[in-house]
Amino acid sequence: MRNENLTRDEAASRSRSLEVSTYDVTVDVSNATQASEETYPSISRISFTCSAPGSSTFLDYIHGGIESVTINGTEYAGAELSDIVDGARIHLHDLQATNEVVVTGQSVYSTSGEGLHRFVDPTDELTYLYTQYEPADARRVFANFEQPDLKAEFTFHVRAPKEWHVASNEAIVSVDEHDDGTSTRHFAPTKRMSTYITTILAGPYFEVRDEWRGTVNGGEELVIPLNATVRQSLARHLDHEEIFTVTKQGLDYYHEKFTFPYPWGKYDSAFVPEYNLGAMENPGLVTFTEQYIFESHATEAQHEGRAGTILHEMAHMWFGDLTTMTWWDDLWLKESFADYLGTLATDRATDFETAWISFANRRKGWAYVQDQFPTTHPIVADITDLEAADQNFDGITYAKGASVLKQLAAFVGEDAFFDAANTYFEKHAFGNTSLQDFLDALATASGRDMNAWTEAWLKTSGPSTLGIELEVEGEGAGAVVSRAVLKQHGTDPATGKDIARPHVIKVGLFSPQPSQGGMLELTETLDVRLEGSEIELPELVGKPRPALILPNHEDLTYALLELDEASQAAFIENGVDDGLARATIWASLWNQVRSGRLDPVVFIRTVARHGAMVPEAGILSGITLNATTALENYVAADRVGEVAALFNDAAWELTQRTSGDIRRIWARTFARSAKAVPEATEELVHRLELMVSTDQDFAPDERADSELRWLALIALSVHGAADVQDFEQEIAREDSAKARVNRTHAVAALPDPRSKTTAWTQAMSGVDGSGAKLSNDHLSAVAAGFSEGSWTLRAPFYASFWSRLEEVWDTMTQSNATRVIEGVFPQGVEGDREPLEAAGAWLDEHQDAPQALRRIIIEEKDALERALKGQQFSEA
Ligand SMILES: [Zn+2]
Repeated sequence: MRNENLTRDEAASRSRSLEVSTYDVTVDVSNATQASEETYPSISRISFTCSAPGSSTFLDYIHGGIESVTINGTEYAGAELSDIVDGARIHLHDLQATNEVVVTGQSVYSTSGEGLHRFVDPTDELTYLYTQYEPADARRVFANFEQPDLKAEFTFHVRAPKEWHVASNEAIVSVDEHDDGTSTRHFAPTKRMSTYITTILAGPYFEVRDEWRGTVNGGEELVIPLNATVRQSLARHLDHEEIFTVTKQGLDYYHEKFTFPYPWGKYDSAFVPEYNLGAMENPGLVTFTEQYIFESHATEAQHEGRAGTILHEMAHMWFGDLTTMTWWDDLWLKESFADYLGTLATDRATDFETAWISFANRRKGWAYVQDQFPTTHPIVADITDLEAADQNFDGITYAKGASVLKQLAAFVGEDAFFDAANTYFEKHAFGNTSLQDFLDALATASGRDMNAWTEAWLKTSGPSTLGIELEVEGEGAGAVVSRAVLKQHGTDPATGKDIARPHVIKVGLFSPQPSQGGMLELTETLDVRLEGSEIELPELVGKPRPALILPNHEDLTYALLELDEASQAAFIENGVDDGLARATIWASLWNQVRSGRLDPVVFIRTVARHGAMVPEAGILSGITLNATTALENYVAADRVGEVAALFNDAAWELTQRTSGDIRRIWARTFARSAKAVPEATEELVHRLELMVSTDQDFAPDERADSELRWLALIALSVHGAADVQDFEQEIAREDSAKARVNRTHAVAALPDPRSKTTAWTQAMSGVDGSGAKLSNDHLSAVAAGFSEGSWTLRAPFYASFWSRLEEVWDTMTQSNATRVIEGVFPQGVEGDREPLEAAGAWLDEHQDAPQALRRIIIEEKDALERALKGQQFSEA
């Protein structure tokens, strides 16, 4: 019986009686370069007090063997260990007022990105290690009390090859050299922090250094050493100047806004391989996915996205690290703030100009999707255990929370917002908090009672919808508004009650601009405070009907939009010349496709039609991905051939006549959408081959780089127009870890039953042909490759899928199980309703399955249902 799933009650019970003072942790990774060694020694010495002497508690440790446990001088070893060790728990009985426990064991090198991940660079065989712990994987490295509110001071000692770069939250204070070519780095004790933000980095990383200098607290000078590290083979791609510039701009900005100076000493930025997320806010050592080291051309939107992540993580140094949620219910207390502040800082402190535009289209798009699943939840969630916590790093916690904070800043004013933050840091520094603590600070700063606002925004779920109801006299150009009402409607899926949230918004009025070919331009904005379900807009009455009325101009609030028919038609016809309005309207159109209110074919055609009219790379990459998804999943089988060919041709044509980022996005879209064309013509194959070629231009004066070549190779693979030799040839041209992952994807995409069988077997077992565990990235690639191409080829495999779900959940780590189940879940089913029925039956028959697993199936089933609805809508 696995017992890794700590409950909220168990955590609360531990924190009621325990206070942890220090951890002293020694980890020896000298054997990391030997592939046959699967574990490494770990010693954890923990000092803590207990307010209930005589009582019992337990430590968390997911290990590969325990040698001994010493509790207040009494040692357990060998057979005695079975008295106290039970799976992932070590029971400690008969506690004293002050206690010392030492656990000596073997921890396991991870291949899933959870715990201490080991990666061997395929191009030079160098071994790299890093850790990732949130929410509860420090226990895979050393024994501890794994919950955010048992903070302590940590002292780490790491033995590793002496030429390696070894780092942790704090600086190294001394080094012991050993005769065997290794050395032990001793780190300074940390300030008080939670287990999930401790970290270790070790390997022959390439390092560049810099520093930030500033004055804080009206005169005191603060110097923060900075560095950036990457694998040796990526060193030539490391654009450290831009990374340091953004990092310094962020430190300037946050020190201007926050009165509490950066408390963690140095600020390292480590870019690491096979990372499961964007980044992690470990104090003093932020880890980032190395997708942020651009090996191929990156658009302005990608650079801006990286800046946003850097500034998101930096905000956590205060929101999350300095003040930490007591339990995972209040995860939003750090994630929503970091997401909001990261975007605000990108907009205010860096040279990037479209942070709020990308936020409106992509970040909020994510929130709106998540908020319409049957599994949606209030921003302040009810998280009863760790598995549920792990599944809750979602669009509500991040993007909806951040959108709501943007609305909060509009509601109370930005100054009050920052005053509240500063009071909150002063009062709770190095401690733990819940929602009430922030609300108290906010009430003081704003002089308002925040209870009604909190109830309406943080404790309800589901999006509400804003729309304008118009009464018009006369027709066409002579139409005059006789009445205009802004309306809000929506139902909380959890309670069934109407949602009536207070909104402080602007309503934007747009008219055609003859000099711009009729593109709509903003002529007027109305400031509106909506408190209930509707409000009259008398400003519009008696005036000519505007061509387009946008209810959430400037994207101040969080709500779905229902444009009136005439406004929507005007947008589709002409577009608007305002970036934020464009972002908001496109997000709303995509939502209408997903809710079965807009024909996916109309959406796809409009994306192609506006192809050269959207200058923001952030919006264009978002809507071209939406269009590709619509092609793959939402268009009826009897029309997809015609629509895909049309869209794919348009993408090619736009690739030929645009330039810069816009061309780059259309080229990617061309290669991606090529996969949705049911029968590839010779012309299509020829175009893809031009893109794969390294000695021919695919567009005027444009040669494909590695990323584009792989996108085209994967499309050729789906059509059976490339084979393993082509993939090998590309690896020979440009080898990298990323190229190897792409090859795995391309092989799994080959359209023959044998390749699909191999891909399926590997995905469902997590093991490759040679019996080795697939790493997280390769597992994702196998699953993604399997899911490419014709449904007919994939359908037979689902006979065993449903009966094996629990086995996958039990045998893989939660993150790997999630990537497999979501990765192979039936998509693009060409009108086949069988998978939808099977998902429903599985849910009926597995009421007692782990909630986190059920949540995945419920969400995937909902997405499939929406796709099938779209397929019906678009039938010829
Ligand atoms: Zn975060």
